[in-house]
Amino acid sequence: MTVNISLCMFLNTMKETLSDVTKDTKSSSRTNNAIKVKSVIPRKRQQLLKWYGWGYKDSMFKLTGETTVFTGKRYSIGEKNLPHFQKWAKDRFNIDTTKTPNIPQLPTCYPDSRLPDTVRQELETIAPISTEGVDRLIRAHGQTLKDISNLRANKFPRIPDAVIWPSDHEQVVQIVECASQYRIVIIPFGGGTSVSGAVTCPANERRPILTLDTSEMNSILWLDGEQLLARVQAGIVGQDLEREMRSRGFTVGHEPDSYEFSTLGGWVATRASGMKKNTYGNIEDLVVQTKVVTPRGVIEKSCRVPRMSCGPDWEHVVMGSEGCIGIVTEVTLKIRPVPPVIRYGSLVFPDWDSGFYFEREVAKQRLQPSSIRLMDNEQFRFGQALKTEASWGGVLLEGLKRVYITRIKGFDPTKLCVVTLLMEGTPQSVAERERILNRIAAAFGGVPAGAENGERGYTLTFVIAYLRVSLCLMLSRCNKNYGAK
Ligand SMILES: Cc1cc2nc3c(=O)[nH]c(=O)nc-3n(C[C@H](O)[C@H](O)[C@H](O)COP(=O)(O)OP(=O)(O)OC[C@H]3O[C@@H](n4cnc5c(N)ncnc54)[C@H](O)[C@@H]3O)c2cc1C
Repeated sequence: MTVNISLCMFLNTMKETLSDVTKDTKSSSRTNNAIKVKSVIPRKRQQLLKWYGWGYKDSMFKLTGETTVFTGKRYSIGEKNLPHFQKWAKDRFNIDTTKTPNIPQLPTCYPDSRLPDTVRQELETIAPISTEGVDRLIRAHGQTLKDISNLRANKFPRIPDAVIWPSDHEQVVQIVECASQYRIVIIPFGGGTSVSGAVTCPANERRPILTLDTSEMNSILWLDGEQLLARVQAGIVGQDLEREMRSRGFTVGHEPDSYEFSTLGGWVATRASGMKKNTYGNIEDLVVQTKVVTPRGVIEKSCRVPRMSCGPDWEHVVMGSEGCIGIVTEVTLKIRPVPPVIRYGSLVFPDWDSGFYFEREVAKQRLQPSSIRLMDNEQFRFGQALKTEASWGGVLLEGLKRVYITRIKGFDPTKLCVVTLLMEGTPQSVAERERILNRIAAAFGGVPAGAENGERGYTLTFVIAYLRVSLCLMLSRCNKNYGAK
């Protein structure tokens, strides 16, 4: 890992002022025993996840003849017929549904690993390592359009030479020392959901590249229900973290759209933002302390306080650093009790402007609920295309019809837009918030469209990411040579 000169000087100064000593505070509701989390994502990611695009292997839009089904049972629309989807896909993308999509086959040949055997053997004594082509390929990229296009065309100019899976901080220290000694480049890899290009191997990098996969560093080291803090290893996946917290009555509340697959370390390294940031804040508001392994030593703030007035805040240097400064191994995070009431809501507005000015007024009055999202008409129509035959889709249609006839007659379906809401709190605070939001909405021509539409809009966020891979399969006839190299 290379660090530029001014950064080195900064790191050295920080090392003098920050030490790796953290005083533990005693607390009755503290779990000192590490909670080893069983991750949903296996080490061989390709066993569960698509290697050629987003998400679980068993989950995708499957268009056959006149019918469309979203396969698998993981999402609310799973295994249900989507009768309106094909028309939408044909109108928007000119999809020919008579063609059978080709599921890409894994490439059969991969570039040789440039990691010298002697170094591989040395690294093997520290943690499991693989030089298998497929392990390297699926960690050679994030999820940008360019990444997926390169993947589909098998055109990556460079892929990592090996992948290593440390399980704790000490192993990372040893790996970084070894890599520094042999001039090996390390790219940290969490969930691989990057959209900045930062996990993609630089084409002109001549040194061996080692991908450090953090997924086996996924324990909750301790949890303190009194101080409302938890110390967590950085490779934990969002859905694992939230599931474990909730089973103990707590929540972190950080939910980027990618949180099923992205990791705590990835959130820190990319300064991630979550859907419920109005209540919980973005990652920078949740992080109290990070532990970072750099080629020049380990850096960690010496006291566990949310903020200090003297000196620059080290955590703000780490956040957004995209793995360039070092590897985040552990994070102390703020947690909260799970709120007693979680309620969804939705509002329909005649057009984008009225929805926009409604949201601006809500922001002015500082009344944002945990999540508030304005979906434009395109997204609204996509939501309509995802209506299932006999589920909440029907409810939406009926709800909207009723609203049309009684209250919003005259709304143009090609212009209207929807605001989805997620409110959290006590029964009283949620009811009061909902009442005020409805009142403000009315002033901008909006009308309530029900909790089910709100929940649907919120959860469909996770399904939208599957659209690209399914439509690409339908659109491409070019992938018949896929994997030929
Ligand atoms: C469908 C989709 C939805 C998304 N939604 C959101 C969203 O709502 N909000 C948002 O902010 N972003 C979003 N993103 C972007 C992405 O999910 C985030 O940037 C996320 O934080 C990346 O986490 P990751 O674990 O997948 O990291 P990776 O993709 O594995 O890595 C991202 C960067 O962080 C570095 N890194 C990873 N782990 C560590 C570590 N332990 N120490 C040091 N560096 C590390 C990597 O080297 C790389 O530079 C979305 C992306 C997709 C594809």
